Formats: sequence, structure tokens, C-alpha cells
Amino acid sequence: MFKKILIANRGEIAVRVIRACREMEIPTVAVYSEADRPSLHVRYADEAFCIGPPPSTESYLAMDKIIEVAKKTQAEAIHPGYGFLAENAAFAGLCEREGITFIGPSSKAMRVTGSKTSARTLAKEVGVPVVPGTTHDLTDEEVAQTAAEMGYPILIKAAGGGGGKGMRIVASDEELTSAIRAARSEASSSFGDPAIYVEKYLQRPRHIEMQILGDKYGDVIYLGERECSIQRRHQKVIEESPSPIITPDLRRRMGEAAVALAKASGYNNAGTMEFLVDQDRSFYFLEVNARLQVEHPVTEMVTGIDLVKEQILIAAGEKLRYRQEDIKLRGAAIECRIYAEDPDNNFMPSPGKIWGLRSPGGPGVRDESGVYEGYEVPLYYDPLISKLVAWGRDREEALERMRRALREYVIQGIKTTIPFHRRVLEDPDFLKGDFDTTFIETRFTERVATGARRHQEVALIAAAIHAYLKEKRAEVPRPQVTAPATGSPWKMAARQDGLRRR
Ligand code: ADP
Repeated sequence: MFKKILIANRGEIAVRVIRACREMEIPTVAVYSEADRPSLHVRYADEAFCIGPPPSTESYLAMDKIIEVAKKTQAEAIHPGYGFLAENAAFAGLCEREGITFIGPSSKAMRVTGSKTSARTLAKEVGVPVVPGTTHDLTDEEVAQTAAEMGYPILIKAAGGGGGKGMRIVASDEELTSAIRAARSEASSSFGDPAIYVEKYLQRPRHIEMQILGDKYGDVIYLGERECSIQRRHQKVIEESPSPIITPDLRRRMGEAAVALAKASGYNNAGTMEFLVDQDRSFYFLEVNARLQVEHPVTEMVTGIDLVKEQILIAAGEKLRYRQEDIKLRGAAIECRIYAEDPDNNFMPSPGKIWGLRSPGGPGVRDESGVYEGYEVPLYYDPLISKLVAWGRDREEALERMRRALREYVIQGIKTTIPFHRRVLEDPDFLKGDFDTTFIETRFTERVATGARRHQEVALIAAAIHAYLKEKRAEVPRPQVTAPATGSPWKMAARQDGLRRR
């Protein structure tokens, strides 16, 4: 086993990896930017090194600096978490050349799966259905030609895409030229590659993905699906396992497709094969995520398998510890991504100091947080501050527990998406499992807006009552109150108590 692991990431995911290492008694090294000096991952790791200024290009994406710390501390392996360098084939290759184990797939497998078009080609080769569209990068003329052949709506996508960037839905010829231009420029600025291709835009699909684990000896298994259709701007916000619509037969077919794809690409370690499932329950391969996913805990809760530990064991050269028939899904799990964002103000980032924090707990609740009371959420990075996960014997109990946990969760000082999750978890269609990837955009945004309007009305009424009472009070002579000598709420209570008794 590795004698030391460096975690090339920050926040809640770095903490998650450190926890797995600690259980395995593997010492850890954290790296951090100047903005992250007070971060939880820095406090949790056995050693921590500052690698540069806040911008991630000068810190968390600075490959040479990270390799230098790994060498200096004699870390034998690097866990990239997700985001930053997690799907960077050049970084995986650099680790390989430097004799440091990258905890993830090989750089070769990552190159095959990293481009959406080459992954689509591979899927076709092994007979896995893909979303209709092209499998190679297109010129502007070819995009127009494909659109004419396929019919609108189409979706232009960046070949090197991720995070919903470089993606444009096009409904008609008139929108095409500007959409191509916008997609290409976003693809260039985000991925350094303007290559785009086209997919048919499916109407109201569900996003359902398969978790896989593969070892270095060609053995691959699937660990069930995750339902990730609750999205905002094509980004997941709530995930669950199992999916309310998946039958055992569909699970097996999608699982086998995922395994076939992994095997064909020489994939090892943890990975996710993403699919879209349409209204008649046909599934289409979407893309490979060659890393751990943000939503991995829901799979862990229903399978009982710690995916980070498995990643480490596989990277160290161990054979898979499970056979396909060992994988049994037990109960249901749901995850809410808690972001430092203001849901009543178009999800604007809300960095700042957390001056009050009460985390939920109790049966079936897991709070994967990267913050603490007094911590200041920096503005430089992804605003994900916690993944709140609830498990229950069935979906109903998991939802009950999540609703309860969301009520318990108090974060003061910054805005968070907790109130938004509370609203989704009260939605009758969501509770029935009746939704698709357009759920938030189409129906929910209206309800949120209505909610926000209602808040404004309540605020107005409250202000009017306040003004009225103030005016009334001004008419009546007020008794003299002596201010307490100390601001402590406990001392104040005691003093009032004493006064009453006398
Ligand atoms: P990214 O890698 O940028 O996150 P994905 O290809 O994973 O992009 O797609 C993200 C989301 O966008 C999907 O979960 C789905 O909601 C939507 N989407 C992607 N492709 C299609 C498509 N062909 N038709 C309809 N929706 C799609």
C-alpha cells in the first residue's frame, strides 16, 4: 500500500479523500492556495503546502508545483478529486513519467474517453446506442448540413466539453450562425479547443448514469445507477440512487453497456458512463466521466462500498474485491448539493464569512462539508460547500430524512441553496419521481419566482406593521430600560431571571 498520498484538490472533496486515507492509515499531504490557508482540508491533512496565489492556474492547476510537493514529501500517489486536474490526461501522463501513481484511469484511457466524439465513436463500435448525431469534429458548413438532415432542435457541443460549457440548443436556421460562433468561442476559452459537433436535442430526457469500477487486470463491474435529472443549466443539483424509473432489466442492460465501454477503452479505476433515457425508456450513451463524481456518495450509501478506498486499492494494483453478483442495492439515497449561492437572486455566488453553523445529523444523514463556523468562503473557486446525503429503507424514507436534515441545516452569514432544495423536496411531481432534465427550468423557476415575489410581499407587509407600531409607540411615553453591561445572551437571560424573581 502507498506510504503517503497527496491530494491535488481543495474543499469538501479533499476532506473526503483525506478521510478515506485516514481510515486506511495512509498519511496525507494537502496542497493549498494562499486563499485557502484557513481551509478545512489544510487542517485535516498530516502535512500541507502552499503552492501559490488564489487563481487556480497558479495553484490547483499548476502541475509542476504539485509534482514538486509530491516529490519533496515522498508521496507515492496523487488523488485528483474532481474538477481541476482530475480529467487532465497530460497530468496523468506527467505523474506516470515521474513515477507517481495517479489515482484514476491511465492517461491513455483518459485520452480515449476525454473527447466526447472519440468516446461516441467507441460506443458505436461496441454496439452501445449513442444520442443521434455526429462522431467527429465539424466545420461550420458541416454543422449546417447536419442540422438540415437531422431537423431541429439540435444541440451543438464542444468535443472537449464539460460543465455545460460550449453547449448551445438551436431551434431554427436563424439561430444557427450565432450559436456556432458562441459555442466555438466558449469551447476555445474553456478548453483551449474550438472543436464542436452536433447531437439531436432529445425532448425531456432523464439523465441516468452508471458507476463502474475496473481494476488493472481488465475486470470491470457496475455499481448501479444514479438519477441526475434534477439540473439547473445542464448541471446536476440533486441526485439519487436508485432511479425511480429503472427496472432491474434496464439496470442490467445499461450496466452491461457501461462495462462494455469501459473494457473497450482499457479503462481502470472508478468511472461513470452517462446516459440519456428518453420517454419510451430507450437509453443513449452521452459521455464518460473519467473520475470520481460529486454524486458518488449516493452509490456508496446503497451499495455499502467506499468508492474512494476502492480507487486507492485499485491504483495500488489490487484486484477488484467484488464480483458483479456481490453488488446489491439496499434502500435509497439522495444528495443535495449545497452551494454558497443565492437561489432568490438567480443563484449569484455568495462568498463570505460563515458566522453561524448548525449541521444536520441523526439517522441516515451524511453531511460532506468543507466548511466550519468562522470560515470565510473564498470567491475564487466552485461554490460547492457541502454535499448533504440521506439514506432510507426506501425512497420515501430517504426523502423524509432529507427534508428533516434540510430543516436542521443552518448556515448564517452567507446565502446558500438550502431553501431551494427545501422547495424542490416539497414538489408533488418530484416526490412522485415524475420529472426530467427540464424540471427546474420549465416548471420550477416559475415557482421559485413566485416564492421570491411572495417573500417581497411579506417583507412589505412586515415593514408597514413595523412603521405603524413605531409611530404608535412614539405616542405613548416609554419606560426607561437600562442596557445590560454585557452583550452575552446567557448573562442577559440570567439578569432578567433575577429581576423577575425579585
Ligand atoms: P457536460 O459534459 O458539459 O456537462 P453533458 O454532455 O454531460 O455535458 O450534458 C449535460 C446535460 O445536458 C445532460 O445531463 C442533459 O441534461 C443535457 N443534454 C446533453 N445532451 C443532450 C441531448 N442530446 N439532448 C437533450 N439534452 C442533452
